[in-house]
Formats: sequence, structure tokens, C-alpha cells
Amino acid sequence: MISQTDRRGFLGGALATSALLMATRSRALAIAFDQARHLAPVKVSRDRVIREVVGLRPYRPEGFRVEAERVGNKLLVHNYGHGGAGITLSWGTAALALDLTRDFLIGRPTSAGAVAPSSGAVRSIPSAVADGSRRLSTRPLHFAVLGCGVNGLSTARLLQRQFGGTVTIYAKDLPPETTSNIAGGFWSPTSVFDDTVVTTKFTEQFRLACRISNRAFQNLVGPDYGVRWIDTFDLLRDETSLARQLTGGDDLYPAREIHRDPDHYFGFPYVKQFSTMLIEPPVYLNALLRDFYIAGGKLVVKEFRSREEINRLPAQVIFNCTGLGAKALFDDQQLEPVRGQLEVLLPQPEIDYCYLGGGEYMFPRHDGIVLGGTWGHGDWSLTPKPEQTTSILQSHAEIMKGLKS
Ligand SMILES: Cc1cc2nc3c(=O)[nH]c(=O)nc-3n(C[C@H](O)[C@H](O)[C@H](O)COP(=O)(O)OP(=O)(O)OC[C@H]3O[C@@H](n4cnc5c(N)ncnc54)[C@H](O)[C@@H]3O)c2cc1C
Repeated sequence: MISQTDRRGFLGGALATSALLMATRSRALAIAFDQARHLAPVKVSRDRVIREVVGLRPYRPEGFRVEAERVGNKLLVHNYGHGGAGITLSWGTAALALDLTRDFLIGRPTSAGAVAPSSGAVRSIPSAVADGSRRLSTRPLHFAVLGCGVNGLSTARLLQRQFGGTVTIYAKDLPPETTSNIAGGFWSPTSVFDDTVVTTKFTEQFRLACRISNRAFQNLVGPDYGVRWIDTFDLLRDETSLARQLTGGDDLYPAREIHRDPDHYFGFPYVKQFSTMLIEPPVYLNALLRDFYIAGGKLVVKEFRSREEINRLPAQVIFNCTGLGAKALFDDQQLEPVRGQLEVLLPQPEIDYCYLGGGEYMFPRHDGIVLGGTWGHGDWSLTPKPEQTTSILQSHAEIMKGLKS
């Protein structure tokens, strides 16, 4: 028989136990909720489009051209043709381009033609990108950089940091009027080359450029440069795609996870989640331009129409970062435009993730939600195409239908 006091004690104990059970259950629920990360929906509709933009990716099937050539007593270093990843690769190819000047700068130019990079020297560059403290001791030099997109600006900044001297950028268009300003700004070295035609030498340059650039962008994370880490969801229908490495190598993308849970991830059977960086081109390019001026850089607005005009520049070393402009200027038959149209929706600060859905992509920038993507090989048209507007909006609305918030 249970006495009155015992009963109270029993009831109290039972209540405490059930409270404990409830607390444990709600903790378990909270953990389950955390695991199925909340994904706010993108409001895809025509009346939320704030602008449409079109840009031409400077694509070469053989990959970007980072190569040096002697022109009389000058050195001309090419750094162009970055396809769909000019922002992503910018610090990396700038570092490779600078490396090609070393022999010339220390007064031991090789015979005419390409100057071979020394892999040891290349490997010393990432730390220079990171802290700007390494400089070659050379006589004062005048460098010219052709082009003021992301590649011209990164090359110019790296020159200032490593070599000092005077750096002058010559360009027809300045930010915000460059292709670099159109870019989505997602850090991923995609759509850069055709892997059936690339050489081993290029593959090595590409691998190095990815790593150097990734590291350099990490040092720029923050609102000043408009760079941040962001969770990304690669939406896949085919299980075999899960085994494929992310472009540039899995090790460049932290926090990788695989989901086989269509109830929580856009309704896709397979989803690869990872972290990468999102770069806001308007903020980033202005910050580079500001740094370039602060370091004493000069800028001349000028369009070049021939190689002879370029050869007449006073600089001893000239970097060609003219993007698609190099096709006409240097008669590069490989270079072709790959047209991309973007629909930009009103900003939604609650969207804190990107997704890639086969051809489509969504990047939540502060200046708008960027929806892509189209790839028009050989298409020079810079006018938005209404049928592409419709198909971009429809395909993203379809992806959002699968999102269980
Ligand atoms: C829709 C779209 C989305 C993209 N998304 C991404 C992305 O998410 N991530 C990413 O990394 N990349 C992305 N890209 C690719 C990226 O935009 C390009 O690879 C990059 O902008 C190339 O930069 P650049 O400096 O070489 O060329 P540009 O930005 O085109 O700059 C070239 C410079 O050279 C100058 N120039 C050219 N010809 C001459 C001449 N004859 N005389 C004088 N000056 C000249 C121009 O005026 C300009 O200043 C995207 C591109 C597009 C179109």
C-alpha cells in the first residue's frame, strides 16, 4: 500500500521522469531538425526580376593562355581565356603569369619564345599572394597591364605587391562595364576547357592556379572584399555523379556531405553538399581598384587596335589580360565567346545557400538573387533573349517546387 507522502513522492518522480523524457525527445527532434538544414525558398517570379544581364565568357577549348613571348627587348605575358571561371582562377593565373617574368627581370632572359616556369618559384608565390611581403630585388621597372577586368586587376595588384615599380593599367572598359562585373561570382573552376583536348602542361597549370587562387580568396573573406563562405547543394538525379570529384579537386571544398533524402533536399534523389566561396563582383572589383590606386597604380582608358600600338608602350614588361578582346588583338583562333544570360531577382537576405541543378544555378548576392545559366558557344549577342528569360525562370521555379521548407 502506498502512503499519502509516498504517493506524492511517486507522482513527483513520475512527473520528473516524463519531463526528462519530453526534454530528451525534444532534444532529439531539435537535432533531427538541425540535420535537415532549413532552406528558405527563393521567390521565383517574373515580377521580382530587377535586371537581366548578358556576358560573354572568354573560352578556349585548350584552356586559359598563360604564356610569355619576347617582343624586341620587351616581354609580353599573356593571361587570358578563363572561360566560366575568370574570377575563380584570377589570383592563380596572375601568379603563374608573374612567374614567367622572373628570368627576364633578373636579366637572364631565355631564348625567344615561351619562358618555362620553374615549379619551385611557382610554389613560392602563394605565400606572396597571402602576405604581400616577398619582393624580388630588381631595378625599378615599369609594367603595363592591358585590361581592367578581374584578371588585369589581380595581375596588377600582384605586381605591386611582389615587384613594386610603376604599374599602369590600359583598358577600353573599366568596372562596372567589364565581363567580370557580369559574372555570378561563385568560386568554382568550371567551364574552363575541353578535357578531350587539353595538354598535360595545361592540366598542371590549372591544378596550381586553382590552389593558389583558392588560398588567396580565403584571405579576402569579409564584407570589405565581398567574399564569403556559403553552403552549396549540387542537385543530382544520377547516383554515379556522386562519385565524381568536384571541379579542381574535392579537397578545395570543405564540409562535404551526401544526402539521399528527397524529402528534405529539393526533391532530388541525390544531393552533394559542400562549402565554397561566393564573391560579389561589384564589391570585389571596386575593392581591387581601390587597392590598386592606394598602391600608386595608374589607369589609362585606351582601346588598342593592333600589336604595334602595344609594342610602342613605354613598359618593359606587358601583361595581356584582355579577355575575349585577345581574339582580335592577337588573332587567337581558339578563343570564342560562350554567352551567358542571367536573371537577377530582388535580394532575399534569408537565402543563405547556393544550388547547382545541372545547367541551372542560384547565387544569393546582396545586390540580388542571381539565376543562371545558359551556355551559348560562339554566340556574340549581348541582348537578353525573351525565350531564355522564360526558360530560366521556369526551371528555377520547378526546382523550388521540390523544396520542402
Ligand atoms: C553569365 C556569366 C557568369 C559567370 N559566372 C562566373 C562565376 O560564377 N565565377 C567565375 O569565376 N567566373 C564566372 N564567369 C566568367 C568570368 O566572368 C570571366 O572568366 C572573367 O570575367 C574574365 O575576366 P577577364 O579579366 O579576363 O576579362 P574581362 O572582364 O572581359 O576584362 C577584359 C578587359 O580587357 C579590356 N580590353 C579588351 N580588349 C581591349 C582592347 N582591344 N583594348 C583595350 N582594352 C581591351 C576590356 O575593356 C576589359 O577591361 C561568368 C561569366 C558569365 C558571362
